[in-house]
Amino acid sequence: MAILDILEYPDPRLRTQAQPVNVVDDSIRRLIADMLETMYEAPGIGLAASQVDVHLRIIVVDVSENRDEPHAFINPELTLIGESVEFEEGCLSIPGFYEPVSRAEGVRVRALDTAGDVIEQQFDGLLSACVQHENDHLDGKLFVDYLSVLKRSRIRKKLEKQQRLRA
Ligand code: ZN
Repeated sequence: MAILDILEYPDPRLRTQAQPVNVVDDSIRRLIADMLETMYEAPGIGLAASQVDVHLRIIVVDVSENRDEPHAFINPELTLIGESVEFEEGCLSIPGFYEPVSRAEGVRVRALDTAGDVIEQQFDGLLSACVQHENDHLDGKLFVDYLSVLKRSRIRKKLEKQQRLRA
């Protein structure tokens, strides 16, 4: 397994539209294992393949306290359920910033699992918000897109400054 590099906002590669996975083979299973390791090491509660510059429709999440309940979804299709609720969101690609984002309180996910079988699961609470956040990445969308233009540009400028200092 390997720790993968995570792209940081405003890297334009984060805006790439991810493509569906055609065959769930060992290379996909290896990528998912690496994504989970990268997410745990960061540490974070979710990661989309887009964030590690692989533009395939794959997300991993684990919101459990003990970090032992990983979920991996390949080609996820979401059905949003219920009212909207606000969660304070952060993102491994937007380090150090947390802002409230409104999302559907529940979500039904239809996807392929790592065996290539179709699964359907329903989530609410933090896991629902997390799945919606990660799925957005596959369409090139980031949580800052839900914020005001002013807030988004302030975050962008601060991160660009940090990235310049690091370079
Ligand atoms: Zn994110």
